[in-house]
Amino acid sequence: MISSNSYIGLGERFYEEEQPIPVSEPELFLWNDGLAEQLQICEILGLDSCSNPGSNSKDFSEKDSKILAEYFSGNQIVPDSSPIALAYAGHQFGQFNPQLGDGRAHLLGEVLDRDGKYWDLQLKGSGPTSFSRGGDGRCGIGPAIREFLMSEAMHALGVPSTRCLSVVTTGEAVYRDRVLPGAVVSRIASSHLRVGSFQFYAARGDVEALQLLRDFAIEKHCPEFGPSFGSEVRDDKERTLLLLDWAIEKQIHLVVEWMRVGFIHGVLNTDNTALSGETIDFGPCAMMGVYDPATVYSSIDHMGRYAFGKQPNIIHWNLARFAECLLPLIKEDDKQSADKIESMIAEVPDRISEKYSSMMASKFGIAAQVSSDSDLLNSLLEHFAVNKLDYTNTFNLLTESLSSGSAREQSEGLLKQFFPIWWSRIVDQEISMEQVQALMRKNNPVVIPRNHHVEAAVKSAEEALDPALANRMLEVMRNPYRSTTNTALYQDLPVDGDKQYQTFCGT
Ligand code: AMP
Ligand code: MG
Repeated sequence: MISSNSYIGLGERFYEEEQPIPVSEPELFLWNDGLAEQLQICEILGLDSCSNPGSNSKDFSEKDSKILAEYFSGNQIVPDSSPIALAYAGHQFGQFNPQLGDGRAHLLGEVLDRDGKYWDLQLKGSGPTSFSRGGDGRCGIGPAIREFLMSEAMHALGVPSTRCLSVVTTGEAVYRDRVLPGAVVSRIASSHLRVGSFQFYAARGDVEALQLLRDFAIEKHCPEFGPSFGSEVRDDKERTLLLLDWAIEKQIHLVVEWMRVGFIHGVLNTDNTALSGETIDFGPCAMMGVYDPATVYSSIDHMGRYAFGKQPNIIHWNLARFAECLLPLIKEDDKQSADKIESMIAEVPDRISEKYSSMMASKFGIAAQVSSDSDLLNSLLEHFAVNKLDYTNTFNLLTESLSSGSAREQSEGLLKQFFPIWWSRIVDQEISMEQVQALMRKNNPVVIPRNHHVEAAVKSAEEALDPALANRMLEVMRNPYRSTTNTALYQDLPVDGDKQYQTFCGT
């Protein structure tokens, strides 16, 4: 079932009604069977050939495949949906832009999944809107494939993320630094509210809109903090503080998860920071290979603002921008609440550090941290950096060293003087070595979507319009914590250690 669009209830200041602009030859390129099944998409659209659980896109009848391409290119409007483009602002590389908004995306409505949860369904690349600012409203197939692959990999890694349902090629060219095949990607998110959504109204001094947005966010994400939930009655101030605390918790969880798997978002502007704490907008994102907090791949991030190791600071900074938007919702004479907001933001770095070190301890097999562990963890990571050790593969090797003699030997070779120190620390715990290994296996993926494999899939899509590499890679990325038939094919390191690797914004 698709419900029309709850954002419309917010009122006209929040969106523009816009229709996707039809494309000439839509063709289904990638389809997310598992997600489609969870969202009951085929039932919604009355299709037969994709309605069996476990079916996959190659089993579609030609007719159904064409119908899906029509709907997920925006040529046909999904029944009961009401496409809109949302307004938002944002700090881009620290500079405030008061007017961004969905310049190439259409939010169709909300879909109810099999577990009774609603998801926003959005098309991206579906044509210009009132927010396009001269852009063409389109998306190249490369960025569409990257978003599909990376978001699906993140989801499987257990990192909160928006997800893609489809990539449809348009049969039309898009003009960037070169001519590329065009595509429309469809994605779901628990909401499309961004820090920048609040900034749009704060910048205009529109307190009423901020109140509406706060209450909308609470209703969507944490209804237990609503004005009256069960027997609780909450006033304005209380709701504001609860929403802030909720958002802080989500963002902390998200950034620590990114650090756990080695994800670099690449363009962590406030408009690309979803309030829900889901990874959103995969333009120049990449995975870190060799451990180095200074790792940056984005061609436009000259100052390293969004380097791997800076992400916790940036999340803190973005949360401070969100908190500023909430201040007008606190009465002027309520100094206590204003102080509370300030202290909540001031505590973010410590809260991130605490979660980060507990995560890092788990990666190294330490179940319960003691104070001296922080020195050990720092020394180990420093050793990783100095010796240019691959983040994912080294943790895997250490995990295996608990049960394999040859992995232990190799680990000794890599960790050198730190190996016996680490080993005696993990042996000296109240849990068994099997339990230590289980802890490490849970926190250390065996495979990640390495940049050179993502690029190969993108290239084959761009040059040959062939989805095979992307589909093959997806199959492996869906099981990142255990080796499957083809896992080893994706564990290899890039030939040049990604030294020349550069990513570009998907505009
Ligand atoms: P992004 O870099 O994708 O996060 O986009 C930043 C802003 O630019 C958002 O407001 C987008 O809607 C807008 N934008 C990006 N690419 C295009 C495009 N090709 N046409 C119109 N607007 C775009
Ligand atoms: Mg964006």
